[in-house]
Amino acid sequence: MDKVIVHKYGGSSVATVSRIRRIAGNIVRYKKKGYDVVAVVSAMGDTTDELLTLANKVNKNPAERELDLLLSTGEQVSSAILAMAVQNRGYPAVAFTGFQVGIITDSAFTKARIMKINADRIKKELKQGKIVVVAGFQGMNLDMEITTLGRGGSDLTAVALAKSLDAEVCEIYTDVEGVFTADPRIVPSARKIRRISYDEMLELASLGAKVMQARSIEFAKKYGVRIHVRSSFNTKPGTIIMEEVKEMEDIYVTGVAVDKNEAKITICDVPDKPGIAAHIFSKISERNINVDMIVQNVSRQGYTDVSFTVSKTDLSKTVEIAKKVAREISASDVIIDDKIAKVSVVGVGMRSHAGIAAKMFKALANNKINIEMISTSEIKISCVIRARHAEKAVKTLHKAFELHKLKR
Ligand code: ADP
Ligand code: ASP
Ligand code: MG
Repeated sequence: MDKVIVHKYGGSSVATVSRIRRIAGNIVRYKKKGYDVVAVVSAMGDTTDELLTLANKVNKNPAERELDLLLSTGEQVSSAILAMAVQNRGYPAVAFTGFQVGIITDSAFTKARIMKINADRIKKELKQGKIVVVAGFQGMNLDMEITTLGRGGSDLTAVALAKSLDAEVCEIYTDVEGVFTADPRIVPSARKIRRISYDEMLELASLGAKVMQARSIEFAKKYGVRIHVRSSFNTKPGTIIMEEVKEMEDIYVTGVAVDKNEAKITICDVPDKPGIAAHIFSKISERNINVDMIVQNVSRQGYTDVSFTVSKTDLSKTVEIAKKVAREISASDVIIDDKIAKVSVVGVGMRSHAGIAAKMFKALANNKINIEMISTSEIKISCVIRARHAEKAVKTLHKAFELHKLKR
């Protein structure tokens, strides 16, 4: 078999017919260079959002099984159209759904995990000289139900296929020239990072930098899949996501990210005794909901307030559970706050440098941005602030850490 390359084209890269034609040209270029090409595609433009809106018009709380069946169609359309565009250039191409190429997932509809890939079918087609186009974002569980891999999940399809096919590299084609020190739409002076470690990218992605899906990076790190994030509009080199090398630690902060997709829930007057937190959070995790930050206030007269954040998409489910638990434990109230944002700084250099948190808090304070919750890990610091301050906070931190001068 020739050396394999996996390409992934995001929604904006396949939004129009002329863009799809251009991408077909890029795929053929790699085929001519001697690669076996597997191209993973997202749905065209805003198709996924439009399908979600459609579902919500008939049901505010649609069943997740049917939601996945619906959402997976977006990628079916773009994969078939892209294969046709390649065929039109005189090259044999074949398009598949996730199910057809053996992407087996668990049954967590809307955020399924890949359990196994049987890549025999793809290998067979490549051997026959065909270009293989795969509908991203989807798989099938063991009951043959169609599942989706979470928003941005085509990245995961691409990385997982790159691993299964032992590809030389997984190229992620998108609408920016790589991974930047902050979202270039918020901070125009943001710099492209030439090389970033899996850990930094994983944090940035988990903390809101939607350029890569977090799970795809988790997978890439686990199996050492090399990723190149680059523009689908030009041929400039982008960002390589790779294993950490020593010099990366020389930079304390590599990027700033912001996430406005979380909401805060507070359960008021929770009895302060052993087992209560375990009770609250096990009820939530039983429903497959990820809790992010948790803060428990100082106890007064045996009672305390517990606040935590979840993704806005899980908010109504979580509130329902929180209200039920509140009744069970005789808590007085459940308060919902969906006007928050989480702003974070990330960098492997933080491991060996003190004072980053202080500098972050000071920069926010100097700009009159109040911090409501804080969480840290080895290589990141996150603060919850008011949503209306989100963009100002990103710009402030980008400047405070002089990221417009970053050289890496
Ligand atoms: P695609 O449709 O190609 O998957 P996405 O919209 O999912 O593209 O991701 C690309 C977008 O991510 C960019 O348009 C940019 O606005 C946003 N983004 C957020 N943070 C960053 C960052 N640090 N570097 C680059 N892009 C970022
Ligand atoms: N179309 C899906 C989404 O919008 C998957 C993807 O684009 O990666 O989330
Ligand atoms: Mg994406």
